[in-house]
Amino acid sequence: MAPVTLAPSPITPTVDFDRDGVQHGFLRLPYSRDDSAWGSVMIPITVVRNGSGPTALLTGANHGDEYEGAVALFDLAQTLNADRVAGRVIIVPAMNYPAFQAGTRTSPIDKGNLNRSFPGRPDGTVTQKIADYFARELLPLADLVMDIHSGGRTLDFVPFAAAHILPDKDQEARCFAAVAAFAAPYSMRMLEIDAVGMYDTAAEELGKTFVTTELGGGGTGRAETIAIAKRGVCNVLRHAGILTDGQASDGQPAEASRWLDMPSADCFRFAEDSGLIEACVDLGHPVRKGDLLARIHPIGRTGLAPSEYRAALDGILAARHFPGLVKAGDCIAVVGTVED
Ligand SMILES: [Zn+2]
Repeated sequence: MAPVTLAPSPITPTVDFDRDGVQHGFLRLPYSRDDSAWGSVMIPITVVRNGSGPTALLTGANHGDEYEGAVALFDLAQTLNADRVAGRVIIVPAMNYPAFQAGTRTSPIDKGNLNRSFPGRPDGTVTQKIADYFARELLPLADLVMDIHSGGRTLDFVPFAAAHILPDKDQEARCFAAVAAFAAPYSMRMLEIDAVGMYDTAAEELGKTFVTTELGGGGTGRAETIAIAKRGVCNVLRHAGILTDGQASDGQPAEASRWLDMPSADCFRFAEDSGLIEACVDLGHPVRKGDLLARIHPIGRTGLAPSEYRAALDGILAARHFPGLVKAGDCIAVVGTVED
């Protein structure tokens, strides 16, 4: 079968990735619509380069309602000088920019979930075009890829950096070394329940050192989790030798990161009922197998018993459903096991 030749990306960068110094610009994606006939989506991007050396590609707001990454990276883009860098840092604080502008997980233009749209298409929807540009143009430039997530409006997490178990053990070791360097309060060996189409997978398949995070949630950023994001990004850039000033542990609390594992799908609890959720454990608290995690009260009438959701293994509550009302199928709790 002849190889499929894809059309060029319609996205035009207004920055030169090979130029030394600091450049602030855009990834311009043509998007013709009612209020702008020859209009474009303008995705902000900063490139900081100083000579030869490794390249880091840093992204936030892959999901538009996750804020720690966006705050840390808009701040880094505004403050990073080229003389602090050896190599290149490419910063896209709001990767799915239409979703970020709308404050929603998915794009209001096409309902695209960017992190389920890889490898994307140059002739697809706006979200698919963004995915295609990252897959074919930006990821190949990078040695280190860091994508900063949080829980968004519907989930809340204990703050952790994470990487995946990978078939290439050398690559896996590089990824977990970068997770350790991030030095979040928790470090996770992450199991994905829905890995098809993820940016993570696209980066890992290209052999990149890939780090992701979950740093809170609820559709906002907190002072503590934003500080973790800012510190973690600089820690990983120093670990990679790209950021040349300061110490890898600058501002980091003395206690070590706790390693968590997600050994199987038993970590997840999904609602089988709709209703009013009663949290029985808070984030970060220890649980034993069989402990009550949450109850869901029917809300149609009084006098009905709540349904109960229990831990299937020992660990800590690593994530929870954030809104007070829950629908059948919602992920209501994730238990992470604690490594010794
Ligand atoms: Zn996310």
